[in-house]
Amino acid sequence: MKALVLKEKNRLVVEDFAIDEKLSPSDVRIAIRNVGICGSDIHYYLHGRIGDFVVKEPLILGHEASGIVIETGAEVKNLKVGDRVCMEPGIPSFGSNMTLKGKYNLDPTVRFWATPPIHGCMRESVVHPASFTFKLPDNVSLEEGALVEPLAIGVYSASTATVQPGDIAIVFGAGTIGIVTALAALSSGCSKVIVCDIKQGKLDIIKKHFSKNIICVNTSKESLDTIIQDIAPEGVDIVFEATGNPAVIANIIKYIRPAGRAIMIGMPPAPAAYDVVAAQVKEVEIRHIFRYRNMYPRTINLIASGAMSVKPLITHSYNFSDVIEAFHFAASMPEDAIKIMITM
Ligand SMILES: [Zn+2]
Repeated sequence: MKALVLKEKNRLVVEDFAIDEKLSPSDVRIAIRNVGICGSDIHYYLHGRIGDFVVKEPLILGHEASGIVIETGAEVKNLKVGDRVCMEPGIPSFGSNMTLKGKYNLDPTVRFWATPPIHGCMRESVVHPASFTFKLPDNVSLEEGALVEPLAIGVYSASTATVQPGDIAIVFGAGTIGIVTALAALSSGCSKVIVCDIKQGKLDIIKKHFSKNIICVNTSKESLDTIIQDIAPEGVDIVFEATGNPAVIANIIKYIRPAGRAIMIGMPPAPAAYDVVAAQVKEVEIRHIFRYRNMYPRTINLIASGAMSVKPLITHSYNFSDVIEAFHFAASMPEDAIKIMITM
């Protein structure tokens, strides 16, 4: 089948790729319709690796996908041919300790799309467990379905933060994950979310398309300290760290109120420090997340209900015939781009 294949660092091709996938009784086969380009896809394309995950053999990219069910295994009850669906891309071992404890995202044997050596989904079809495949309501488009993957990280972050009604939060980072975290925090009950970045283009997109309860701060021009002094003099209830930037991480504690929370979402390139004593005297709770678990149904519900309006996240669309051009564009990291969506 036709697929987008990363042959090696900096070499992407669209080619016929032989991939033989058996449909087990609990699987469905899905014709892929939309795939979002993720920062991790770009990272593998440019660097050939993320941490210990190294592209040693040709790898099909893509993990943020929606599609249409074209075949169902004999035991599948929750889906039928023709259903519009989105797919959770990380499949754990169903009998592992972490899966049995309900924390399947922490199963060390999880097989995640487009994480070497597991192929991704920028191809004509995939075989996927029915239990990790979710039907989209009629009022949720296939493009929105492909956004569920990054959105699930935001919803999981808000859920991990145990947002309380009226909380005030800061999100550091206005990339895709920072924005979806801000949207999820608001839909979970935050009254105000302050989003900080130094890229004005990203902040402008937020100002133009999203809730007025998101306050954008360009920290290269404005003083966050002054703004916090005004909005939340004791500090905010929650900080979401979505930059992975050690200089940002070093400073997060000072913005959090006593007994507040910090959620670590961004992945710093090396061990990063924060002020432990400052965190101790305020008993700040610091929680870490890795991807997400059990968030797809909630995320789909929030899109369907209108609690999260996510269409403006798709700033650029390409057909699969132009997918290489789309990757070149994404790799240039344009400030006015959030999600680049491919239609297969
Ligand atoms: Zn992603």
